[in-house]
Amino acid sequence: MSCDHPHGKPVTVMKFSETGEVIVDNEEIDRIFNNPEIEDRKIVILSLIGAFRGGKSFLLNYCLRFLYANYSSINKPKEGMPYFFHKNENWMGSCDEPLKGFSWRSGIDRDTIGIILWNDVFLHTLDYSGEKLAIVIMDTQGLFDNNSSPTENSRIFALSNLISSVQVLNLANRIQEDQLQHLQFATEYTQFTVIDSIEANEKPFQNLMFLVRDWNNVEDYEFGKDGGMKYFQEEVLVIDSQREELNSVRESITNSFDQFACCLLPHPGKVVAGSKNYDGRWSAMDEEFKDELQSLIECLLLPQNLIVKKINSMDVNVREMRQYIQNYFRLFQSNEDPGVSSIYELTVESFMNNLIRMCIDEYKLAVYTNRDLIGEEHLKTVHDNCKKKTLDEYDEMKKMGNAKHEQKFRNNLAEKIDKIYSEHKDQSDSNLRKFEEEMGEQQKLFEKE
Ligand code: GDP
Ligand code: MG
Repeated sequence: MSCDHPHGKPVTVMKFSETGEVIVDNEEIDRIFNNPEIEDRKIVILSLIGAFRGGKSFLLNYCLRFLYANYSSINKPKEGMPYFFHKNENWMGSCDEPLKGFSWRSGIDRDTIGIILWNDVFLHTLDYSGEKLAIVIMDTQGLFDNNSSPTENSRIFALSNLISSVQVLNLANRIQEDQLQHLQFATEYTQFTVIDSIEANEKPFQNLMFLVRDWNNVEDYEFGKDGGMKYFQEEVLVIDSQREELNSVRESITNSFDQFACCLLPHPGKVVAGSKNYDGRWSAMDEEFKDELQSLIECLLLPQNLIVKKINSMDVNVREMRQYIQNYFRLFQSNEDPGVSSIYELTVESFMNNLIRMCIDEYKLAVYTNRDLIGEEHLKTVHDNCKKKTLDEYDEMKKMGNAKHEQKFRNNLAEKIDKIYSEHKDQSDSNLRKFEEEMGEQQKLFEKE
């Protein structure tokens, strides 16, 4: 189906070439994320992953309807938004409106195995905290079909897990053992964080939702999240002492994600599932499917349910996320199999560099305010005091990595601060010289007269 949406379009930011190389579109990533209007906002990224023709893009397009009806966005700012959030009850739109957005029900070729972002970003300010959020929607394409290799599958899986704050795993009929194994492959890429997280009891990934479509055991487990969670706990998470290998799959998955959810959706009806000319309108959906679809989307996207992306338990903003995304993509691009340790090193590096950038901003602000109070001639004292304060604060901050990393980045911070001081000092020395020269010239003129 066409994707000629009035306010945005899907952009493929990462895909595999014919020969399996990773192709990244950094320009598109910059176009979305490199925007002063959103850079400081905390980021929420919803991702959907699963087999081809599972109704992923279809569902995401209804998510877009909810987002456009309820939030402002970069491309469609809303004027006069009430301060407090009021859900637009008619967010599904009119019953015969054709569905637009991510291209759905389309054919597949090698070109479309990859990660796709909606190029418009949604904005929301939380009523209760004033926190400003940016919401990004991510689709994946071409996974788990005959064309994609297991390496491609687990790489896209790993990448989208690293990038998203909520990952929805879209499955047909039920949760199967081989799907859990796929998930395990992907989590192995990023088991690194477990190295760091054991003490802190943190998990490398955030929220995972198993979304089961066309659920037909409603006598056993009812539709929706409650039935889903019961099913997940009773049928999927059970430990079977006879089957060691299955237990290890479960263990590695539960060790990797912070929170789990499971949701069971009914069959959408014959037209949605099979009609060639179906244009996505909701009047053709079975009533029960429509109701469950609506609750699912609200459960993912109402303000109180939004989940901010965290790395090492720290909220991540749009600017930082752009760096993480581009760094991760680069790593997968340059290395056939980046392996656990390089993903770990890269995450520590990006996290710590952000921390250092924050410390340097604090240092600059402290010098700037104190300099005027104490005077330029005492610049060295101001610098020494501010440097000490900044390093003390650094010592107190939550860091990532081992003791070696901690020392390396501490030295790095101290060096950067000294460099800023010496540049500032040179500049103020030269300003002073310039001032003295000018005063000298004036004195000479004065004497002449
Ligand atoms: P994707 O490849 O996973 O992104 O799948 P699409 O979103 O392109 O949808 C593929 C087909 O599945 C479309 O014809 C949809 O109408 C249909 N579809 C959407 N939701 C469901 C569902 O819950 N169950 C079934 N059986 N089909 C669905
Ligand atoms: Mg799709």
